Amino acid sequence: MSGVPFVDLKAQYARLKPQIAEAIQDVLDDGRYILGPAVAKLESELAEYCGVAHAISCSSGTDAIFMPLLAYEVGPGDAVFVPSFTFTATAEAILLAGASPVFVDVEADSFSIDLADLTKKISETRAGGKLTPKAILAVDLFGLPADWNGLNALAEREGLHLISDAAQSFGGVYHNSASGSLAPVSGTSFFPAKPLGCYGDGGAITTDDDGLAEVLKSIRVHGAGADRYEVVRIGINGRLDSIQAAILSVKLSVFDDELEARERVAQIYDDELKDVVATPKRIEGLKSAWAQYTIKTEKRAAVQEKLGTAGIPTMIYYPKPMHLQAPYLPYGGGEGSLPVSEAICRQVMSLPMHPYLSDDDARRIAAATRDALA
Ligand SMILES: *Cc1c(COP(=O)(O)O)cnc(C)c1O
Repeated sequence: MSGVPFVDLKAQYARLKPQIAEAIQDVLDDGRYILGPAVAKLESELAEYCGVAHAISCSSGTDAIFMPLLAYEVGPGDAVFVPSFTFTATAEAILLAGASPVFVDVEADSFSIDLADLTKKISETRAGGKLTPKAILAVDLFGLPADWNGLNALAEREGLHLISDAAQSFGGVYHNSASGSLAPVSGTSFFPAKPLGCYGDGGAITTDDDGLAEVLKSIRVHGAGADRYEVVRIGINGRLDSIQAAILSVKLSVFDDELEARERVAQIYDDELKDVVATPKRIEGLKSAWAQYTIKTEKRAAVQEKLGTAGIPTMIYYPKPMHLQAPYLPYGGGEGSLPVSEAICRQVMSLPMHPYLSDDDARRIAAATRDALA
């Protein structure tokens, strides 16, 4: 089978082409190219979609988790607890804020932060006396929401800020609540390949906290006060372009339909593969946004090679846990310190996943994967 893309952004564009052209043209005609009316419209749509009071759009998913750290004044001497099995941006935001990441292991089946290890790392950090525990930055990896009931209870008990890195889970559901509403503050990404992507970089922060929303809006424009040229804090240039907002509004109108299509692909993969390989964990009451469909196998190299020969692209998210990456070595416990994260980095492999994958192609990919595993 040739020509199956890992993520097919062109098929989506073909579906939405006239609406997107019109939306872009409207922004060009309007003339407000940054934080214009298209941005205000998108922000109210995002807030409604997530069921929160505020959506603050911003320049990227990275800034969407960095800005809440700035807003909470997390900085030098502070510890932020973060899973090691994630994309670098999660841990990077902590270092950019001047704080220290404390790496936590994940669960082998859900890939979410392990609450038992998290509890242990918090008490070890307190006992160590060098860093002040300040925040937990948990990730909904591959689109599946983490254990937010457990995380909210733990954060409250420990007096820690809780931030959700929802870059991969926009559209995911946790017991009837949408991703973006599961922690006091959440950051998501609109990078093109994420479940909801724009045609450039973009992100959004969602929260019910009025005071926090005001601070985040100030941070987004260089720490401006009530007057634009009064500087009340140090911020960043964290704004979203109006053209990207207009594109996102169009894409949001078909997003639920796309989520259903992703679920259908995942279901086909599950049916074909669950008796031959470790397929993604399903949790009652939770819906994944299916940013990735990730299996685990000890035969990964061989399976990947066979699928490649058959014209089926696969990806490895992620080959190395953060605590073993060069810039983070001083913050982690080295090789062997987070055994689950280290083991799954050797086993994970993601199959093509996007809403425009036909049932036939999904079945063929699953069958080829089955053969490659045999
Ligand atoms: C993509 C991603 C980010 C960063 O988003 P950008 O928009 O690329 O800056 C952060 N965290 C996770 C888990 C991601 O997958």
